[in-house]
Amino acid sequence: MSRAQHRISAVVMASAGMLTAFALGNWVAAQAPPGPAAPAAYKPEEPANRGLDANLFMQSSAEYRACCYQAYNLAALRLKEATAKQPAGKLATVMDLDECVIDNAGFQAMLLRSNLAYDQRLWDMWELENADQVALIPGAKEFILVAGKLGVTVAYISNRNDKSREQTKKALARLGIPAAADGLLKLSTDTSDKTKRRQEVEREYTVVLYVGDNLRDFDEAFRCRKLDKKRPEEITQAIQERKDATDMHRDAWGDKWIVLPNPAYGEWMKPLGQGRADLDRLAPPIPGK
Ligand SMILES: [Mg+2]
Repeated sequence: MSRAQHRISAVVMASAGMLTAFALGNWVAAQAPPGPAAPAAYKPEEPANRGLDANLFMQSSAEYRACCYQAYNLAALRLKEATAKQPAGKLATVMDLDECVIDNAGFQAMLLRSNLAYDQRLWDMWELENADQVALIPGAKEFILVAGKLGVTVAYISNRNDKSREQTKKALARLGIPAAADGLLKLSTDTSDKTKRRQEVEREYTVVLYVGDNLRDFDEAFRCRKLDKKRPEEITQAIQERKDATDMHRDAWGDKWIVLPNPAYGEWMKPLGQGRADLDRLAPPIPGK
């Protein structure tokens, strides 16, 4: 287990210990001096290991690797076509980082091994302390080097926290990714909506290609609307809306928008996580069976 994973495990255990202390008697809290409220415990995953197959697909299948190469081979081809048509001086490609360049398999494995659901506090810790634990998405580095050779600027728009900018830069450097100017590494300061940051790049460059694993890396039209999850018809509608938006942009896929596979997490999961009710999202039963 890595140092970062040890630290996260320690926090998970401390959280469990805190729960036990509360369960042992209210007198503990009653006698404690007033202080900041105890943080909520991390949520156990329900059902357990829900994402196991998705993560194993990413971490152990040759098929996942092939999908990544396929995406980046096509991306490189598109850049070559674009630079053959026009001078590359003001051309750019916009890339997301997590699960497009940076492989966070270690974080996902920690969640699964600890039976935990995603928690922002754990992710923040991972961002801050795991720069030496991340890996490289297959094909990403080669694509970035091709862009450099073609004279196409690479801008990164990621929802990693801007507060962990130095650690993100360290992670990229460790993966052998050429350093980007700070203005071309646009991290999240207050919102996960990337529209404004995309526009900032688009004002300075002709962006010929976007690379993402979450469709919100391309357009906010793919954002899952706010849901009342107690109303199954709303969930059905939200899922359909995202599919419809995808169909509306049918010609963009593989052209200006290159998608990396991510079955482990992302916007697509927002309408789900309803335990056994998620089974209703599967294809209807075959009549007569
Ligand atoms: Mg991503």
